[in-house]
Amino acid sequence: AKNETRGTFSYFESGMDARAQSRRKTEIELRDAIQRDVLRPHYQPLIDLSTGHITGFEALVRWPHPERGMIPPSEFIPIAEETGLISALGRSMLRQACSDAAKWPDEVRVAVNMSPLQFRVGNVLSLVMDALKQSGLSPSRLELEITETLVLEKSGQVLATLHALRALGVRISMDDFGTGYSSLSYLRSFPFDKIKIDQSFIRDLAANREAQAIVRSIVSLGKGLGVIITAEGVETEAELRCLRAEGCHEGQGYLFSRPRPNVDIVGLLQAQKDA
Ligand code: C2E
Ligand code: CA
Ligand code: CA
Ligand code: CA
Repeated sequence: AKNETRGTFSYFESGMDARAQSRRKTEIELRDAIQRDVLRPHYQPLIDLSTGHITGFEALVRWPHPERGMIPPSEFIPIAEETGLISALGRSMLRQACSDAAKWPDEVRVAVNMSPLQFRVGNVLSLVMDALKQSGLSPSRLELEITETLVLEKSGQVLATLHALRALGVRISMDDFGTGYSSLSYLRSFPFDKIKIDQSFIRDLAANREAQAIVRSIVSLGKGLGVIITAEGVETEAELRCLRAEGCHEGQGYLFSRPRPNVDIVGLLQAQKDA
């Protein structure tokens, strides 16, 4: 690691532009943060829109930085993907999410984001099996969120992994649905249990007829395929009313709760029980 730091200084001096330097700095600090194990998942509830109950939580990585405060994932996930650090980051999030969730009530699930890169470089199946075994979490309480980028690769290996995960009882969610450029044909060949409608379609749902038509189509698609439909980024009562009217199953967003650290989760679940 010492050599690497020395190498870095000469690299900085050699006239990289400011943006490249700041990325390089973030990369070095991120590698260090992963090594020191300071990245933590925060958890945002998934709400059953017919009962109002919490069905589970999505794990979202947080990086508490000594000078910069809490750095949002948008500022380091792309760098982690470019540098390969996403493997170690993803493994750590999966482990932490499973061991946190193992202490939650039995019916509460945890959803973990998986980068397409993790499927490309690592053995996702053994990664997941290890995390489940270490934590004692039942596979049926784990959901993995993947994106269209992954299914677009049309890899037999990826397909086999997804089938094997499902055979274990792990659920597969299609994240950010509607933002990719793929055709719908992959819905036939790829196995999943849930579709998450991207928050760009939820925004202005109450006022925007086009957004309403899109959400309505996705909900009916989901019903036809027998998969759960979750709306992301629900911020207002008006959006919630529309989603209920369209028969959307599940919601997630600031209206219900911001992502919160694990210490808050048990209290959140207790408050729901008492309500
Ligand atoms: P995502 O998977 O689509 O996660 C949802 C994002 O929307 C989260 O941003 C969440 O905090 C935010 N959000 C939730 N409700 C609302 C709302 O009502 N309004 C608005 N405006 N935003 C809302 P976050 O935590 O900043 O994460 C951003 C992205 O970073 C995630 O998008 C995901 O793609 C990626 N990410 C986060 N954690 C991980 C991780 O552990 N592994 C990987 N591979 N990617 C991650
Ligand atoms: Ca997600
Ligand atoms: Ca999403
Ligand atoms: Ca997203």
